Amino acid sequence: MEKNNFYDFQYDELKSFLALDLNLDKKKSSMRANQIWKFIYKNGVSQIDNFKNLPKEFKENIKKKITFNRDTIQEKKKSLDGTIKWLLKLKDGNLVETVYIPFGKTGTLCVSSQVGCTLNCKFCHTGTQMMVRNLETSEIIQQILIAKDELEDWKIEKKIRNIVYMGMGEPFYNFENVKKSILILKNKEGLDYGPKRITVSTAGVSPEIYLAANEIKTCLALSLHAPTDDIREKIMPINKKYNIADLIKSCSEYAKVNKEKIFLEYVLLKNINDSEACAKNLIKLMGKFPCKLNLIEFNAWPGVNYEPSNKETIDKFFNLIKQSGNIVTLRKSKGGDILGACGQLKTESEKIRESLKNN
Ligand code: SF4
Repeated sequence: MEKNNFYDFQYDELKSFLALDLNLDKKKSSMRANQIWKFIYKNGVSQIDNFKNLPKEFKENIKKKITFNRDTIQEKKKSLDGTIKWLLKLKDGNLVETVYIPFGKTGTLCVSSQVGCTLNCKFCHTGTQMMVRNLETSEIIQQILIAKDELEDWKIEKKIRNIVYMGMGEPFYNFENVKKSILILKNKEGLDYGPKRITVSTAGVSPEIYLAANEIKTCLALSLHAPTDDIREKIMPINKKYNIADLIKSCSEYAKVNKEKIFLEYVLLKNINDSEACAKNLIKLMGKFPCKLNLIEFNAWPGVNYEPSNKETIDKFFNLIKQSGNIVTLRKSKGGDILGACGQLKTESEKIRESLKNN
C-alpha cells in the first residue's frame, strides 16, 4: 500500500489520521500532531528519527504509514545578482523550478504550481513547454521547505518573507492543491505566513478569481500585460475566453472581499504594449478597480519573437502612470543570466530530460 505523503496533510487532517489510523485517543493525537507539525514546519527537522521526545514505537508506527521523504535537487544555479534557481526532481521524474529572489537580507520565493502550462502566453518561456500535470499539494510545499533548508531559513526572522505563486503553471487551473498548500503555509503552528505575505498570480481565470476571493484569501496578482482586448488576445490567448471586462468584474469582487489592491503585472514588450496610447488606456482601466501596477522589464529567452522596450520608452511609460496618481513600481529584472526571471521559467528540465534519454 502506498504511504501517505506528510506534506499533503493539513493540520486537522493529520490529527484525524493519527486518531483513526494509529489509534491514538483525541488528546494524544492532538499532542502528537502538534509536535510533528512543529518539528517539520517550525524547526526544520526533516528526518523523523531526529524528532526528539517522541516514543520509539510511535515513530516506527508512523513511518509505516507516512513518508517524510523529499523531492531532490537536480540542479542549482546562482545568478550574479544573488537570485537562486533550483530545478527539483519529483518522484515521477518530472522536473519543476523554484526561484529565490533576494532583496537585501530577505527575499521572495517564487513557486510553481504545474509542470508546464496550458496557456501559451506568447512572451513566456514556460508557455512553450508542454503541460504535463498539476503539482500535488506536497510538491508545492516541498519547494518551500527545500528552499528554506538551502537558505538555512529556520530562525524566527524569516529570510523568505514573501511567497509568490508565479512560477511555472496557472495556479487557478490547479485550484484545490494550491488552496490546500496555502492553508498549510498560513497555519500559525507551522510556517505561519500571513495572507499579505502570499501572492497568487493568475493569467486571468475569471471564475476562479471569484472563488479564490472567499476560499484562498491572499494577495492577488493579475498578469494583465495589455490594456485592450485586441492586444491582449495576441499575446495571451486566454483573453479570448475571459476578456478584460470579465477580469475587471472578478478582480473588483476580489479586492472588495479581501480589502487589498490587486497587483497588475505588465511586462513591457517593444512596439507591442509600450506606446503612449497603451499607457493612457491602462490608466483608464486602472480607474475601474483598486489596483497597483508592477511594470516588468522583459527578459528575452532563446527563440522568443519579442524584444524588451528601451529605457527611454520604459521611463516614459512609467512616468505617465505615476503622474496619473496610480501606484506603479518598475521591477528590475533579476536572475536573467540563469533564466530565472519572470516569464523565463521553463524547466531546463526538458533539455535535461532529453539528455538523460540520449545517454
Ligand atoms: S505567463 Fe503564466 S499562465 Fe502564461 S504561459 Fe507562462 S506560466 Fe502559463
